[in-house]
Amino acid sequence: LQERLGRPGTRMLDRLRQAQDEDGRVDADDLAQAAGEFGWPVAAVTGSATYYADFAEGRRGRRHVRVCEGTSCLVSSQGQHIARLERALGVRLGECAADGSVSLQGVRCLGYCYDSPAVLDGELPASGETLGGLFGDPLAAQRRTRPGWVEPLKMQAAQIPYASAVERPVVLAGLVGGEEPWAVWPSVVAAGSREKVMSEIAASGLRGRGGAGFPVAKKWSMTAGEPAPRYVVGNGDEGDPGSYGDRLLMEHDPHRILEGLALAGFAVGARHGLILVRSEYPTAAERLRAAVAQARQAGHLGKGVHDSPVDFDVEIVVGAGSYVAGEETALLHALAGLRAAVRARPPYPTSHGFLGRPTAVNNVETLAAVPWIVRHGGAAYARLGHPDEPGTKLVCLSQRFRRPGVYEVEFGVPLRHLVEDLGGGLREPYQLRAVQVGGPLGGFLTPDQLDLPLLTRPLTEAGAALGHASLVAVDSTVPAAAILRHAWAFGAAESCGACTPCRVGTRRGIELVERLGGPAQAAEVLADHEPLLEVLNVASLCAFGRGVACAVRSLLRVYASELHQATAFTSNRGA
Ligand code: SF4
Repeated sequence: LQERLGRPGTRMLDRLRQAQDEDGRVDADDLAQAAGEFGWPVAAVTGSATYYADFAEGRRGRRHVRVCEGTSCLVSSQGQHIARLERALGVRLGECAADGSVSLQGVRCLGYCYDSPAVLDGELPASGETLGGLFGDPLAAQRRTRPGWVEPLKMQAAQIPYASAVERPVVLAGLVGGEEPWAVWPSVVAAGSREKVMSEIAASGLRGRGGAGFPVAKKWSMTAGEPAPRYVVGNGDEGDPGSYGDRLLMEHDPHRILEGLALAGFAVGARHGLILVRSEYPTAAERLRAAVAQARQAGHLGKGVHDSPVDFDVEIVVGAGSYVAGEETALLHALAGLRAAVRARPPYPTSHGFLGRPTAVNNVETLAAVPWIVRHGGAAYARLGHPDEPGTKLVCLSQRFRRPGVYEVEFGVPLRHLVEDLGGGLREPYQLRAVQVGGPLGGFLTPDQLDLPLLTRPLTEAGAALGHASLVAVDSTVPAAAILRHAWAFGAAESCGACTPCRVGTRRGIELVERLGGPAQAAEVLADHEPLLEVLNVASLCAFGRGVACAVRSLLRVYASELHQATAFTSNRGA
């Protein structure tokens, strides 16, 4: 890329953000200027500027408010929060006031699903007082007393009971044990061997925690087997509505992620690591950057770390609003400042990754588990969890639960344990109708399916999958058609557009929902879903299109009786 286009673009998105900060928008002059600075064609810069939601939304106001359109927020307000916010701010979603005073952006998830509905006012979560004013809801004011209300989290041994509360969601991502970070890195660079680190990871059976569950040791050894220079990348683009464990990890335990990335770099022989953090998580990006600076000062990162021959440094790159950027080939494009479009594989990133070089991409939760494994041994980690899937997983419970929060649990525990013992069931007066697992690419389960074990493999015949392990409780007050439209609307909004089945099919799905109008139309609408889902499932280029199809299919089964009676649902407010 450097040879073809000029300077590598890890700073391109920052450059466009800077232009936007200066006068609220990215205009043609900004594009030409950025292209000149980076030695890129203007068309390439324009491609990025028009792809990412942060830039494509248009002009920003002096006060920029982001409101969550995720599933937990839809459930918590029955989709009413966006309309109420529009009225309170005097501006429509996606628009900026004529005088430039305020703009309102819809975001598919802000990562505050334990305290929905969520709003970011500038860079910080809206305070309770602000929310109370915006929503006209005195309860909202009581709910949060100040911005940035999440206290620094204390690491605890991962033992029951997993205390949790709205104010302090619990992160136990020591993972298990919670020792101080950077405990193992100095001894590894001083006396460790790559083979030893690799063999402990292989013995642990650690798989990627982002949702795909690919064996980490295999990915690392494939990367290590390719010629240098190689890269390691942390995926902090947690976009799944319902998931917020990565955000809390990045905000409250950034050094553990950095140590995991450093160990990954050591194992594959990389001297450079990058972490992509989504722009919806500004505090996470800020704390990771601060942690990198601290780690450099402490000698953990840089040239000749801890007086060893090992060089390793980390760069934090902030995205600009794209769900699909969480897919690893799209993420590599985003890191390079390009449109975050998926590309066909092979070649895999392990041979053709960042800037065309061999790259191991791992989710930040996966990386956070690495220091514990290297310190305690892979065998100790493998003793945790399920025979089919060792280790632990962070699971996020949504606002409708009595005890929402992040819980670290061993693989194989029944979902009912999470819903009833840890989450405490639903808060009064709500009745559980369904649980959405794994976000919009996961699926829906009925309350009588909760004895299934927590595993990455498909949970049901309909293909409901654990994904990044969010559990969003959907109560019986939420209309089935609203949930169905929400699922299709997410697909249409976040499809990267690279393949027709997904780009067009998700829009066809919305049209189908809009035809619902009682029993006569419902049978036809539901029957018309089948061929559409089949096309999405077999012909989509990446897991996004297939995931949308699986999630919708499981939703149709869970809500079959309601959907046969459903009338049209055309609101675009939160659904
Ligand atoms: Fe892009 Fe969707 Fe095709 Fe994946 S399935 S490549 S997200 S258009």
